[in-house]
Amino acid sequence: MKLFNTLTRKTEQFLPLNPPKVTFYSCGPTVYDYTHIGHLRTFVNNDLLKRTLEYAGFDVHHVMNITDVGHLTGDDDSGVDKLEKGAKKQNKSVWDIVQFFTEQFIQSIKRLNIVPPKELCKATDHITDMIELIQKLEKRGVTYQTDEAIYFDTSKFLNYGNLSHQKIDEKIVQARKEVYSDPNKRNPVDFALWFKCIGRFKKHVMRWKSPWGDGFPGWHIECSAMSMKYLGDTIDIHAGGIDHIPIHHENEIAQSEGATEKPFVKYWFHSAFLLVDNEKMSKSKNNFYTIDDLKNKGYDPISLRYLFLMTHYQKPLNFTWEALTAAQNGLNTLRQWAISLRDSSTRSNLYLEKLEKTVNYQKQISDAIFDNSQFPQALAVLYEMLKSNIPPVDKWDILMDFNHVSGLKLDDFHKVIIPQSVTLIAEKRNQARKRGDFDTADKLRDEISKLGFTVEDVTSGFILKK
Ligand SMILES: [Zn+2]
Repeated sequence: MKLFNTLTRKTEQFLPLNPPKVTFYSCGPTVYDYTHIGHLRTFVNNDLLKRTLEYAGFDVHHVMNITDVGHLTGDDDSGVDKLEKGAKKQNKSVWDIVQFFTEQFIQSIKRLNIVPPKELCKATDHITDMIELIQKLEKRGVTYQTDEAIYFDTSKFLNYGNLSHQKIDEKIVQARKEVYSDPNKRNPVDFALWFKCIGRFKKHVMRWKSPWGDGFPGWHIECSAMSMKYLGDTIDIHAGGIDHIPIHHENEIAQSEGATEKPFVKYWFHSAFLLVDNEKMSKSKNNFYTIDDLKNKGYDPISLRYLFLMTHYQKPLNFTWEALTAAQNGLNTLRQWAISLRDSSTRSNLYLEKLEKTVNYQKQISDAIFDNSQFPQALAVLYEMLKSNIPPVDKWDILMDFNHVSGLKLDDFHKVIIPQSVTLIAEKRNQARKRGDFDTADKLRDEISKLGFTVEDVTSGFILKK
């Protein structure tokens, strides 16, 4: 199996430290607002990687954190506490906000058929672990204290900047642009391990006793503390969105390696961005979507998983309703195939030619998946295989294999299956509407309803329902 490693900028053979075991950490959500489809792209890509590792025979130990404290609006210690800001906005306590959005996150990943991590751990349950790690760093002489915080001294860590392939001077220039900075911070790229509840954080609600007085942890320290606690000093894979590379993950490496003097992570796995109609998602632009928004418009949440699967995880993905409609139709087609193949059980002796073909399809699909998660390519071969002349029973086996690794719930026969023939009529009707031929469109609508389905027009096309 091959994986692209952000650290080396190369696609490498994947060789875990202690096979068949694979230690896997992924950065979780900051639970101050709704989990949206941009976050979900990263979580689905991580899930596809995890399923791929298991498909390859590895035994994956997956840990994910829930950030419920300490994440400021600027990843580099600038701004205000996101969680307290969220609480103020909703006029609720910060603890209520954390609980509400944690539940919304868990519900969202469930809807997308994401396999839950073995450990889903909250930062606030690991304050002691974080304090101990900071003390370890203090003993090693890589921290300093100001009136406001305990900082990691990046000048003491030679490899700082290796992950983002940025020179420290470039990083300093970028960091200087930030609005807020502690006047006693020695270097703009140094980062807080612990904030004291004085000055700008005097009224901070979430606070714990510590050797440095009442305070709360900086954002980055939780991932180092939890990763090392559950998975050991060095792990195989650490995953997250590409926005985490320059600050969060760079800081995680510095803290962890600064404490242990061992490599922190062997392979870094990063998912590219999701755009909506070619723009960055934001509430002010009204293009901020959650999985419930999709569901309320009549889409099966799994159609979003299908859409993600169609674009390689390292490429930016542009979300449009048209693309989601196409994904929903693609998902329906595969489910239709699953229904038509499920009862095929007679396995006859194959001619050598067909046997070779079957083996070849299977191999092409798994080769694509094992080659740095080339799911779009695997999906293309899957369709080719379904249309080929290999026996139905073999098609079924290959389809179910793909179902397992892709998490598309193709064997969920309780889902309403829209026959291909109905989709075709609906497409014809859509075209008729577009050219203004409403008589034909109405006739085709009747045809669809005679077959037991209704067609609903949406801006991006149509949705079929039983
Ligand atoms: Zn993290």
